[in-house]
Amino acid sequence: MDKRTFLKLSGMAGAGLVVAPWLGCQPSGDDKTLRSGEKPDSGAGDVWGAEAFALPALSFGMDALEPAIDAETMAIHHGKHHAGYVRKLNAAIEGRAKGIDDNLITLLKGVDSADEALRNNGGGHFNHTLYWEVLTPGGPSEPQGALAAHIVSDLGGIDALKAAFAKAGSQQFGSGWAWLSLDDAGQLFVSSTPNQDNPLMTQCVERSGTPILGMDVWEHAYYLNYQNSRTDYIQAFLGLVNWESVALRFQGAMGQVG
Ligand code: MN
Repeated sequence: MDKRTFLKLSGMAGAGLVVAPWLGCQPSGDDKTLRSGEKPDSGAGDVWGAEAFALPALSFGMDALEPAIDAETMAIHHGKHHAGYVRKLNAAIEGRAKGIDDNLITLLKGVDSADEALRNNGGGHFNHTLYWEVLTPGGPSEPQGALAAHIVSDLGGIDALKAAFAKAGSQQFGSGWAWLSLDDAGQLFVSSTPNQDNPLMTQCVERSGTPILGMDVWEHAYYLNYQNSRTDYIQAFLGLVNWESVALRFQGAMGQVG
């Protein structure tokens, strides 16, 4: 398959029609992402720039989730931790050839487990962006529609999902995340990952898929309010889930399932 075909596939993937094959991301200066016989193109847009990714603004105030998640935790988590992942992600990929890996999702799907800068900081940016978007002080309290039906058929119902999700978060040793994801066969599953890994990272997880709900269980997500009581934070988190946002992500992921 030549580069033109790859680019075409990549563009179609961006339109949600085809999942392009992943060829691997390479460290800066390595030209293995180029197809044989081709030379690097120095034109703008073919390599990652210095500010490829930006810290997203929150859709609610820092104090909107109180008392479950306090404003100081939110401010530090968003303005320091997430901002740091964005800054280090940009530094890690600046100057790299984009190839077909022209967005964060394709970068993470193919990230080499040894590429710690991209794995940790790209994961950190993706994971926190998802985290802010699935939290709400005023969303519906339970899943609806197709998502609710799949939660019943795949996981045994919302109570079983919440129990499995809470268990995944509480049993993740040290820092990490709990996930609800959709696999390539269209099955929902619950998992956990260490550090800033996520289920997109096929080379880093036992079961890969598209995460539609993510819960940060790093101590920085809860320690000011809950100290060592991670289980109390988990129960508070489950009361803040924006199931409308999760359902939209579920619909998008189902659209990608072949
Ligand atoms: Mn965090």
